[in-house]
Amino acid sequence: MLAGYSRIGDPQVEVRHAPGERGYAEDTLSAIREALPSVLSYFSYFGVEQGFPRIGAVLAPCRAEFDRLVHDLLRVNIERPSHPARIAQAQRMDMVVLSPSAYATESTFPFVPAHFRRLLHHELVHIGEEFLSPNIEAVPLWWSEGLAVHLSRQWAHEPAFARAAQTGIAAELLPSLSEIERSRRHANDWGWTWVWFVERTYGTATVREIVATCVNGDVLSLLPCARDALQRAWRQAVSTDLRDELAGQTGS
Ligand SMILES: [Zn+2]
Repeated sequence: MLAGYSRIGDPQVEVRHAPGERGYAEDTLSAIREALPSVLSYFSYFGVEQGFPRIGAVLAPCRAEFDRLVHDLLRVNIERPSHPARIAQAQRMDMVVLSPSAYATESTFPFVPAHFRRLLHHELVHIGEEFLSPNIEAVPLWWSEGLAVHLSRQWAHEPAFARAAQTGIAAELLPSLSEIERSRRHANDWGWTWVWFVERTYGTATVREIVATCVNGDVLSLLPCARDALQRAWRQAVSTDLRDELAGQTGS
């Protein structure tokens, strides 16, 4: 399945790359190595740091190869050709990443090294979450994406991740929780604001506990507060403190 690919890395992180992609493979390896301690320490309450399995990343040199590997290696259903905004996919301990060498022709993104590093951090959060979760299939999209965008800090540095929330907060148009649960777009745009809110209100240990114990997908039921009261508190926090944090966004 990976004939012609070379391999670099160590017992903890392995990156496979096509001929001519060695430079990007080294960037990928160093970004994953750099992000791994923070992801593991975030989830370490449950002892994940001992015996975390090897993480595998494959750098796909083109869109067709990305789609093939997502389907055949990760066994994730994907439309072919996949949408140009799709540039990475994680499943179990592995991730398939579109190589930056293909961005110009086969994605909607310009290649920005800092964004690429945060993207790998984001995918690593998905891997850490899936490893810890007792039932990842039940976890709602808004929570998983929210966790990955929040912990990778994409929201704090990349306008594309914060724009919808910024605009919504400024216009005082915040979606309800039901809307975020129902809509993929809202899940991507607003999920991280909920994870941000849960973490600041209840602490990182509570976020970890939700990841490690939520079996039925009802993540908020594990909080000591009713859904309506949570929504009111979220609206309040997002409209004040988060608005202020976003106003100071560096955009780098
Ligand atoms: Zn994601």
